[in-house]
Amino acid sequence: MLTRLATVLVALGLVAGGSAVRQSTSNDAVAAGSSTLAGAMGIGDPYFPEDGNGGIDVRSYAIHDRYRFSGWLSGWTRLTLRTTERLGSFDLDFLLPVSAVHLSTGPATFSGTDHHELRIQPRRPLATGTTVRVTVQYAGHPSRHSYLGESNWSAAEGEVEAVNEPHMAPWWFPANDHPLDKARMDVHITVPSSKQVVSNGRLIDVRRHGRRATYHWGGGGPMATYLAFFVAGRFAIHQGTAHHLPYCLAVSRLLRPGLRHAAMRDLQQTPEIVAWLRHQVGPYPFSRTGGVVTSLDPGFSLENQTRPVYPVAVSRLLMVHELAHQWFGDSVSVHHWADVWLNEGFATYMEHRWTEGHGGPTTSRWLHEAYNATPAGSFWDLVVADPGPRDLFDWPVYQRGAMTLAALRNRIGNHTFGHLLRSWTALHRHGHGTTDALEALAEKQSGQDLTAFFDAWVRQPSRPAETAANGL
Ligand SMILES: [Zn+2]
Repeated sequence: MLTRLATVLVALGLVAGGSAVRQSTSNDAVAAGSSTLAGAMGIGDPYFPEDGNGGIDVRSYAIHDRYRFSGWLSGWTRLTLRTTERLGSFDLDFLLPVSAVHLSTGPATFSGTDHHELRIQPRRPLATGTTVRVTVQYAGHPSRHSYLGESNWSAAEGEVEAVNEPHMAPWWFPANDHPLDKARMDVHITVPSSKQVVSNGRLIDVRRHGRRATYHWGGGGPMATYLAFFVAGRFAIHQGTAHHLPYCLAVSRLLRPGLRHAAMRDLQQTPEIVAWLRHQVGPYPFSRTGGVVTSLDPGFSLENQTRPVYPVAVSRLLMVHELAHQWFGDSVSVHHWADVWLNEGFATYMEHRWTEGHGGPTTSRWLHEAYNATPAGSFWDLVVADPGPRDLFDWPVYQRGAMTLAALRNRIGNHTFGHLLRSWTALHRHGHGTTDALEALAEKQSGQDLTAFFDAWVRQPSRPAETAANGL
């Protein structure tokens, strides 16, 4: 993500523990003792205690939504999941009103609809390791719902985008909404036949029925839920294959022709930028690429898997940033959101690396200039490896994160650092990374004790001393 706003405000109204009050929509008898087998209401991320859920591992999502441009969204999603513990009930994260829930294993009731925690209670507890298909049917106005103060639905007359971080799924499909649970995604969106839909991966088919059309996108690889997206509207679309990689580019037709053509010219650099990144950090983790420019301007761009979404003011460095996230963030995802500098620091660092490789200053020179231009003060007060949920996307997470990597390159040498980039993206491909894991790998490959280095750069709320040990 790259935001123009200084901060993304996250209003924290969190209820600690499992004491949230739920509306019950059922008075079915619950097997005695099954309440003690309730899956946790969160996956265990200290920043967002209700994100994700305990006891389930989602393997795939088949999303079937219909969007009316009046703002009404209806549909059903089938999740195929495996229980990781014996469960008397389990939660999904979702905000829209739910009308029905079906389990492939037998009867179930549900409660808590439209309060983020949709609790599903099978009549008989599910054994550990059970594969269950869960079908949830729903309808509502996504724009009328918020979570932690975020109102993430972005729509105008004629165009809509489901694009945000760290939360987006609960506005359009029920999810185990945390990067720890990646899954395959199939996205079917039905819209009036005058509109088009773009999403992750490849367009598998378009079915036209009467005055509507259903677009089916899939094959975007194992995906964190916030990286699934769709946009719907009228788009100029450009597809092809370059550098051995199929791409799909889309630009809103609501933009004036001059802006639209300029945006498409910019997006056409995508395959070349991906090829350059591949050369720097290792094989591209997915089988498709692309980019989307909409007329909606939420104030940020986002690294949606295989297909970043940009505002109209797209630039080459913005594209380098979001495309670098395909490795750092999308393939190698955060373990907990406290690790977000591993996404934003690497993506920002790759912007400076691009500049260095295209006639600009070296990352080392940029590091020294940035260091000298930033005296002791609030910039250094943030603990980069634990910024807190309110400051998740604050500038120091990006800038100091990128400076850390430029300094690490100085400290361990260009050759070892290049090897580190490639082995990091290979070892954690389609998985997760932590600050400790990066530090351990850098120590192993360099043969150096880097404790004090990582402490100074990402664990202490102060300006690192200007020493060679700190890469300065
Ligand atoms: Zn970013």
